Amino acid sequence: MILPKSNRLTPDQLAEITAVVAEFGCQIQPIIGAVRTIYAIVGDERDELMINRLEGLSYIDRIDRIQSPFKLMDRRSDLASHRITVGGITLGEELFIIAGQCTIDPKNPNFFFETAAAVKEAGAHSLRGGVWKPRTNPYTFQGDAKSLDILMEASRRTGLPVDAEVMDETQLQLALAAGVHMLQVGARNALNYSLLRAIGRAVAERDTVVLLKRALHMGPLSEFISAAEYIAAFGNPNILLCPRGTAPTLDGYRNHPDESITPLLKEKTWAPVVVDPSHSVGKAAYVPACALAAVAYGADGLCIEAHVHPSQGIGDDPKQALTPEVLAETIVQAKQIWALRHPVKV
Ligand code: PEP
Ligand code: MN
Repeated sequence: MILPKSNRLTPDQLAEITAVVAEFGCQIQPIIGAVRTIYAIVGDERDELMINRLEGLSYIDRIDRIQSPFKLMDRRSDLASHRITVGGITLGEELFIIAGQCTIDPKNPNFFFETAAAVKEAGAHSLRGGVWKPRTNPYTFQGDAKSLDILMEASRRTGLPVDAEVMDETQLQLALAAGVHMLQVGARNALNYSLLRAIGRAVAERDTVVLLKRALHMGPLSEFISAAEYIAAFGNPNILLCPRGTAPTLDGYRNHPDESITPLLKEKTWAPVVVDPSHSVGKAAYVPACALAAVAYGADGLCIEAHVHPSQGIGDDPKQALTPEVLAETIVQAKQIWALRHPVKV
């Protein structure tokens, strides 16, 4: 990782370092942080001669050689000062809430518009809505591209940025063309490296945020953070890590709630953690407690399924969506726990 003395290299300086590393078979990938741009060396960066030549350039501050499989997402990385802002909230400064339906029903767009208004009223900063759905049962509703228009219309009406899952490159391009602000990588695709690379490439020049869910089957911590690294390595570090429960399940819950992974993630990475309590437990009655536990464990945000009329929803909504009233109460309580963890300094 090349750290320049200034916030950003000039085109001539970038050309010069690119030429130096090319002699050693490497390339340069600029990573645009909120404060400054850093320059990742892509390839084998161990050659001492290459490092010495780079460090000898007057405009280079230093070369950071973090020995980590996720050197960009690592806590020790220069990107640790990067801040992600969505829906007017800078992650880490205030509890960030994403809420909305699991699945948009294209036959009932008004439910989504009503849900969007209701979650905003309840205190959400961003709206979620499933357009394409990863369904275990191949004969159930798989989503509908028409729902993308409903999602964007709800965003226009409420002014909230929107989050939607994409599962392949076609969906990715459609979502970006429509103006989706946050791309969700689901638990089933969290380790789909070609999709992660495609997303990284597609968001490289944008301020799009990626909500990366933890894979369905438990893997080591580094597996989760390395998945984020796949995206960041293309230049956009706006990544939120989303624990959402893992398999095998805790008997009675939909998954094994994994919000307690949060402090461990925070030791290893600077990335904000946004816990999804809805999929963790899979039943509306259990969601508030899981949400509060997540904040107690240090989560920076929550992603919660909610619906104005859960029983008339589709996908997961009849089982696990909160009503707007319960959502509002959960947000108030979650903010109280947040305040306990973030006492105002006087
Ligand atoms: C969802 O958010 O509705 C969803 C399918 O999530 P996950 O990938 O966590 O199952
Ligand atoms: Mn769902």
